[in-house]
Amino acid sequence: MRTHPTRLDFFASAIIALVAVAAFLLADVARAVFVVIALVSMWLFIRIVYSRLLSVFPKQGDLPHDHLARRLWRVFVEVILQYRVVRDRPLVGILHAFVLWGFFAFAWYSANHMWLGLRGLDHATTERTWYGAFVAVWAAAVLVGMIGLSVRRFILRPKALGKLSPTSGAVAFLISALMVTYLLGWGVFPVLSPAWKVNWWLHTLAFFALLVVIPISKHLHLVLAPVTIFFRPETTSSMRALREEGEDLGLIHFKDLSRKDVLDVDACVECGRCTDFCPAHLSGGTLSPKEIILDLRRGLLSGGGLVAGTVEEKKEGKAFITEDDLFQCYSCGACEYVCPVGIEHVGRKILDLRRGLVSEGRITSERVNQLFTTMERAPHNPWGIGHDARQKLIESKQFPIFDGTQEWLFWLGCGLNYDSHGQAVAQAMRQILDAAGISWGVLARETCCGEPARRAGNEYLFMELSGKLVESFEGARVKNIVSCCPHCTTMLDKDYRQITTYAKLGIKVMHHSEFIVDVLPKLLLQPSRIKATYHDPCYLARGRGITDAPREILCAAGATITEAAHHGRNTQCCGAGGAQIFVADDSREHGKQRANQRRFAELMQTGASTVAVACPYCPIMLRDAAGALKREDVEILDIAEIVAKNLATLRV
Ligand code: SF4
Ligand code: SF4
Repeated sequence: MRTHPTRLDFFASAIIALVAVAAFLLADVARAVFVVIALVSMWLFIRIVYSRLLSVFPKQGDLPHDHLARRLWRVFVEVILQYRVVRDRPLVGILHAFVLWGFFAFAWYSANHMWLGLRGLDHATTERTWYGAFVAVWAAAVLVGMIGLSVRRFILRPKALGKLSPTSGAVAFLISALMVTYLLGWGVFPVLSPAWKVNWWLHTLAFFALLVVIPISKHLHLVLAPVTIFFRPETTSSMRALREEGEDLGLIHFKDLSRKDVLDVDACVECGRCTDFCPAHLSGGTLSPKEIILDLRRGLLSGGGLVAGTVEEKKEGKAFITEDDLFQCYSCGACEYVCPVGIEHVGRKILDLRRGLVSEGRITSERVNQLFTTMERAPHNPWGIGHDARQKLIESKQFPIFDGTQEWLFWLGCGLNYDSHGQAVAQAMRQILDAAGISWGVLARETCCGEPARRAGNEYLFMELSGKLVESFEGARVKNIVSCCPHCTTMLDKDYRQITTYAKLGIKVMHHSEFIVDVLPKLLLQPSRIKATYHDPCYLARGRGITDAPREILCAAGATITEAAHHGRNTQCCGAGGAQIFVADDSREHGKQRANQRRFAELMQTGASTVAVACPYCPIMLRDAAGALKREDVEILDIAEIVAKNLATLRV
């Protein structure tokens, strides 16, 4: 943080001195002192915010403000109502909410307090008001909140909160002092008595001290959280398009951070929720999304150059974040889902840093480099399996070839083309499409959409693969796409829309859960009794916000669903995303249960004999876990397979 005095500092000091002299000449020393304290603290507040935020605020990066009403509503729900804060940690959340709501209750009182300081204490009124009593109730609530939060932070000290911070102690003390002095002034000391006056000054000093401590501490989130929550997207793990102007190769240097990134790193409240919920961290990895954000803050404020590098480069102080940590991420978005201040850890930082490392040729992981080599070579799928496997599937099952006359393109993706279970899902989906009377076809030749390449940071390879595919879509006059893979769906419905030529095609893209739920009325189902649990794929639930459609489909097929502890948007990752299914280092000594085993064990706690899924990657990971946990008896089926099994015939 730059703190050396500037010309502005001298200018501000001169103004403060002039105002103080003027107040003094008006023969009221107390008012002069009040004015000086107020102006100095306000100046320090502005000065620190400038050093910490405005002086390093970049020019690049959009601050999106589309869907204004929805964004404002989100700020209301998450900031004013404290929805997220209470949702994930109810007790701590309520205590925090007491403090915040108490601040709101105090707003008018504090304004009057300052006004009294300007006019002189002799103007204090002895009249008791309902508002004064109302504020007293909130002062008590804030005190309860502060005591509870302080016991947690300074005595219980959960690991997620990290080291004790002196500024947190100072803030806790000052807020408590404000409340105690208010209560004493309101209910104990007679107005204008000497004790009342001393108490008034203590309250004033605590107020202005708090104003200075807020911007030098993590409590800057009081100012920034509404802003970061307003600008964050609705769904998680979104990757930005590379800028066309200038040279943009991903996030490499601190100067590459965007406006939203800088707001994010300053808004972090260091609560540790993201790390507490991170499946990579929970399975013993060194990745901590909280530390990623704090490392970005440290680097930014210390004028750092390179953001990421090897473990050695970090040790030598040449980089702040390690490649090893970045490549443990599943891009599951859990960190973003739980973050109470709307920080985007994944697409804008972790994956963008991977992109920077790859574009500079600084990847040392053999597994990652091997994935790129496999995908660069024909036939361009991440498994490196020949096209014959796909060809056999299409010929043996007589899948119609898309020729531009059909309504829907059934996009298979690598999971359904090359994995044996995926091929069974493709066949099930085919039965559903036919039963619903849909005109459809598959591409004669399908290449990878580039998802693993983009998530692993290889933007160049992604551009190459997407370029070919966009040409195929254009040539085949594709208007609607249905896919059984949330990863492909996200690519085709979100990432690809950053490509102008694709965006112009206006192709509608649906995940098969959305599609099947739409055609359910056309299907005649003979529901069978299945005791199932449903595993929400991260890219569908958090990445696309779809949690109801798969459940509706399962219920229509006769399933009784028992929910796992983590479900819906609060799902736990199976460990496949972020290209980890292809690059994860299984030999790494985790010392803890792997992500897929943790998830499978949790699903088994429901007692269900069937695990329903809606993504081709999840069953691969969960089957692996079932083998390791000796639970091969459990059926792991895609929602399309469950529907196809219960399909009778066409209703209309
Ligand atoms: S996306 Fe998932 S794996 Fe990656 S840092 Fe966030 S919580 Fe951890
Ligand atoms: S990034 Fe969000 S969830 Fe993580 S520590 Fe910071 S404020 Fe908490």
